[in-house]
Amino acid sequence: MNYKKIITAILLTTAGIIGLFVVQNCFQKSITQQITSSCQLLKLVNEQEINAWKAMETLGITKEECYKKVSEWEKEYQQSHPRVSVDKNLSKSIVQLIKELLVTYGVNPAKVTLERYDNGLSAAGATNDTICVNQQKFNSLPADAQRFVIAHEIQHIIYKDAIVKEVLKDHLKIKSTHTNVIDSPLNQLSRFFEIRADVMASLKNPAIADGYVKRAHLWLTENGYNPGTSHPKHEERLALAQQITQVHQQSAPTVA
Ligand SMILES: [Zn+2]
Repeated sequence: MNYKKIITAILLTTAGIIGLFVVQNCFQKSITQQITSSCQLLKLVNEQEINAWKAMETLGITKEECYKKVSEWEKEYQQSHPRVSVDKNLSKSIVQLIKELLVTYGVNPAKVTLERYDNGLSAAGATNDTICVNQQKFNSLPADAQRFVIAHEIQHIIYKDAIVKEVLKDHLKIKSTHTNVIDSPLNQLSRFFEIRADVMASLKNPAIADGYVKRAHLWLTENGYNPGTSHPKHEERLALAQQITQVHQQSAPTVA
């Protein structure tokens, strides 16, 4: 009898150890896969940045020179615009959502102006310190697509994309004719800004990545053909969105 109990105990312990080993192995594998995929995405973003600035150098403008002027621009701006505000016409739920996401991405909400701007073609947009929302268009989006849209605009603020464009256009005198040429340095840089904003927004959170997929589907179905000038083609962004959701799905078993 004791002999049988000992055998049963040994078998159960062995099964437990094997089970633990399998679970641990799966956990390590999925984490490794996730990191590898995240790294690949970040590598893609990094390559786009290098290529965009190489193209800009053909116009005699370096990244270092540009960001030096960005710092000067910011100092001047802060002296002349000491306050930020929240538009009273913007719905409270949208204001709350934006503030929550600003905190999530490490931006102080007290430093960002929120505006309702119903003439815009996009659901939302960002300048150096302002997020503008086209409330009607924004409200027509699914909830997770709304979160993606705001998270994307927050990245433009974090990376100072609007100031860089301002500096390039006004201070470094990039000719406006360049804006219509698909592979002009300014458009290459602009597409890189969009991709970086998409990736950095949606790698942080699976729900936002899902929102990115939904938003990209809507671009394809509602906005029609986009030749990929200042913004990447809709189908490229949808493919990227799906890739990012896969990165999140690879880590799903560890969450469960
Ligand atoms: Zn954008």
